[in-house]
Amino acid sequence: MSGLEIKNLHVSIEDKEILKGVDLTIDKGEVHAIMGPNGTGKSTLAYALMGHPAYTITEGEVLLNGENILELEADERSRKGIFLAFQYPVAIPGVTVANFLRTALNARRKAVNPDDKGVSLVEFRKLLKEKMDLLKMDSAFAGRYLNDGFSGGEKKRAEILQMATLRPEIAILDETDSGLDIDALRIVSEGVNALRGPDLGVLLITHYQRILNYIKPDYVHVMLGGRVVESGGPDLALHLEEHGYDWVREKYSNGAAA
Ligand code: ADP
Ligand code: MG
Repeated sequence: MSGLEIKNLHVSIEDKEILKGVDLTIDKGEVHAIMGPNGTGKSTLAYALMGHPAYTITEGEVLLNGENILELEADERSRKGIFLAFQYPVAIPGVTVANFLRTALNARRKAVNPDDKGVSLVEFRKLLKEKMDLLKMDSAFAGRYLNDGFSGGEKKRAEILQMATLRPEIAILDETDSGLDIDALRIVSEGVNALRGPDLGVLLITHYQRILNYIKPDYVHVMLGGRVVESGGPDLALHLEEHGYDWVREKYSNGAAA
């Protein structure tokens, strides 16, 4: 299968079980939205898929294109084509956006083709300009230190710029809409939409329906208590927007999602 398969995934942090059996399959070409109340395990799922060392997988499987990735380190998963746009991107003073992206891109290219000699500076500048134009970013941005002093909107744009440069097979976007004003939300969404296609699967994590007006999901899932409890089409997101999460809590309160 080409894409990401998550089977009965159980994840603990410091001996506390957060994910209690998540099942989800994301084929390439599809956009899946995961919605859910705060504290329900959405970011935990994102970190566990990316290989954050603080998150212990106690049970289950994660396959990328049919291959088990749970034994791989985060950087190896990245080179294989998994990408995570952080909810809270960290600053790396001393490393410019351009240098960071060129290094990451070369690592990814080498993983795909061991003979790859790396992207030339001229070629890279052209590529970066194209992607920055797509995200309506000023060219001076490339010379700034990564996320250092960036506004909330700039950080989220920098995350999508990484995605646009690295061209992952599976992109996980963790609350990319949080902290964005409506203009930034539209620009970021247009950037994601421009990257959509048969070679990319997207897992879009969000608390609010708003971003789904711009990035239309093929499937919507509700996470509650560390499990995916409801799945449906875009209508499910509209229903949640109107009725909130209480009906989901009530439906699954009798120990079903505890
Ligand atoms: P969401 O993204 O859905 O808001 P999270 O995955 O961030 O939820 O958190 C799920 C649960 O895991 C919460 O109860 C949270 O307090 C707990 N948690 C998250 N990160 C840690 C951590 N590093 N140490 C201990 N508990 C954590
Ligand atoms: Mg979160």
